Amino acid sequence: MYGLALGLVVVVAVVAVLLVASARSGNRYERIARCRAGHLFTSTVVPGASLKAVRLGRVRFQRCPVGNHWTLVGWVDASTLTPEELSQAHAWHDVRVP
Ligand SMILES: [Zn+2]
Repeated sequence: MYGLALGLVVVVAVVAVLLVASARSGNRYERIARCRAGHLFTSTVVPGASLKAVRLGRVRFQRCPVGNHWTLVGWVDASTLTPEELSQAHAWHDVRVP
């Protein structure tokens, strides 16, 4: 149980740092997305506008920058990801065009 609690504290701390960092850099419209193949990447969100993706409610049809393929992409709650998954998601970013 001690190990689990410690892991939880680490995850919460990482998420808190990421939230503060993103707020300071003004990346409020950056969200983590996951494609059907499980690839994680960061995507720019501009409410009400989208030129690079077809919106289908909560999921979008767009190109995955990780696997370099067209796929259905859904948003992921960053607080549900492990630190490894978060760093993987932030290592990839799709084109900075909404
Ligand atoms: Zn993919």
